[in-house]
Amino acid sequence: MRITLQVVVQDEGEMPATVTEIAQFERDGLDVGSLGLHLEEAKSLLGRLQRTMVAAQVAEAVARTSICPTCGTPLACKGHHRLIFRTPFGRLSIDSPRLYPCRQCMANAPTFSPVARCLPERVSPELQYLEVKFAALMSYGLTVNVLHEILPLDHVLAASSIRRQVTALGRRLEADQATDGRQQEEIAAGSRLQDIPEPSPVRAVGIDGGYLRLAGHGRRQDGWFEVIVGKSMRDQEAGHTFAYVHKLEHRPADRMSSFLLREGVQPDQPVTFLSDGGDTVRFAQLGFGDRGEYVLDWFHIAMRIQNLEQMIKGRPAHCDGPSNAVLIKALHGATCHLWHGCPYPALRRLESLGWDLDAEASPEEAKLLGKLEELIIYLDNNRHCIVNYGDRYRHGEPIASGFVESAVNQVVSKRFVKRQQMAWRPRHAHNLLQIRTAALNDQFRSNIERWYPSVAGGERHRLAA
Ligand SMILES: [Zn+2]
Repeated sequence: MRITLQVVVQDEGEMPATVTEIAQFERDGLDVGSLGLHLEEAKSLLGRLQRTMVAAQVAEAVARTSICPTCGTPLACKGHHRLIFRTPFGRLSIDSPRLYPCRQCMANAPTFSPVARCLPERVSPELQYLEVKFAALMSYGLTVNVLHEILPLDHVLAASSIRRQVTALGRRLEADQATDGRQQEEIAAGSRLQDIPEPSPVRAVGIDGGYLRLAGHGRRQDGWFEVIVGKSMRDQEAGHTFAYVHKLEHRPADRMSSFLLREGVQPDQPVTFLSDGGDTVRFAQLGFGDRGEYVLDWFHIAMRIQNLEQMIKGRPAHCDGPSNAVLIKALHGATCHLWHGCPYPALRRLESLGWDLDAEASPEEAKLLGKLEELIIYLDNNRHCIVNYGDRYRHGEPIASGFVESAVNQVVSKRFVKRQQMAWRPRHAHNLLQIRTAALNDQFRSNIERWYPSVAGGERHRLAA
């Protein structure tokens, strides 16, 4: 059996339709391997279909622009050159004429290329979308392999071109989000007076950090840089994430406000920030003043206390000073104060526990004392973020930042530190993080459609039944 495919192009005018044969398939019998299209056939079919479509589209555009818009005189052609345009269905070499403007109507105007004017970028939005989205989910090398496997790219798609797209789109995404935040702010400012505030759609925002290896620093101790990840916890749906390279963000508070606005939190709505109390993470929360409630993750407090308790239990019974039972009782007392949001009595208890220990007595005792001091410093540094956990817990409010720790794993670890030797330049990691978070948030495609409205299609692009 022979199956032939023809493309019929009918333009708006009176001209007869043109018919182009683009593919012919031979089939003999029926088995699992011969049923339907082969991958290679499908790729070549799509490539030819695309070239036929493009030729018709370009010819129509050239015909339309090759006459003077004022007097209708055909414009003279100065010459032709070829324009390379990359799409998911192949690399196109498009004929692009350069035309003289109309001598009567536009004397002295420079020559122009209508096709080049229509195609200011040379990579189709959807190829950009595919390259960059896959690159945000897997390595550049793998992205190249996957796209070549399934698409008739028929040109060498190199990791370096993907890298360039990541840089371009990452920057664009970031600029867009900042503008978006400002617009939301204006809308919010306009509606604040008349509307009764609705409850915030975000229950809490968790902030945490992760580290990436710095490219070109070998195994040096300082060859790392920090990435901050934030995630919203929402009532009805999955939360969204944002991420940035810490040292490249000089206005973390602006980024946070813009994120909150995009999440639908109005500027006058309070926000709960959950974190594990790291220094840079605290920096990320700065500038929110009385708007935010800062909560130190209960799990981190509990874990540190539990470690200490284990150490006390392992302390030899013959030690001088108070018995283990007395120490544990004091520790539990401090924990109880912390649970109820009273850091000062908790710190007093922990300090007096330290007075009973003697660092000189034994190495174990010194180690225990060291751990206790670490806990005291941690709690003291974060005392403003120790809240009434018991009360929050009873009211079903979040007290643990575990949800953002898994976000760090999802956003950072799974793409950036899969292998020990994976190293990054901070600026590039920052751009890729913008794309990865947009892709994981399911917001990347809508960005592309906003930048290139004609990609969104609509009923004009409907498929024939
Ligand atoms: Zn004219």
